[in-house]
Amino acid sequence: MKIKCPKCDKNADLSMDFSFVTCEFCELDMSYGEYVKFVAHNEKTYSDILGDYAGSTEGESAGSLDEWD
Ligand SMILES: [Zn+2]
Repeated sequence: MKIKCPKCDKNADLSMDFSFVTCEFCELDMSYGEYVKFVAHNEKTYSDILGDYAGSTEGESAGSLDEWD
């Protein structure tokens, strides 16, 4: 199936068993796990926003845990 290439933004090809991602335009060739990490790294700014949000909610739950003691 076609997915967006993280390197050149053209159509990359995800193998039927979701194991490999290849791109004929920039010769990308990596496992799907590496592809997910690659995309996550490229969208680090977005991940940081989510991370900050998760961090603030974690703080709240930790506080409520203390109240149980
Ligand atoms: Zn590509």
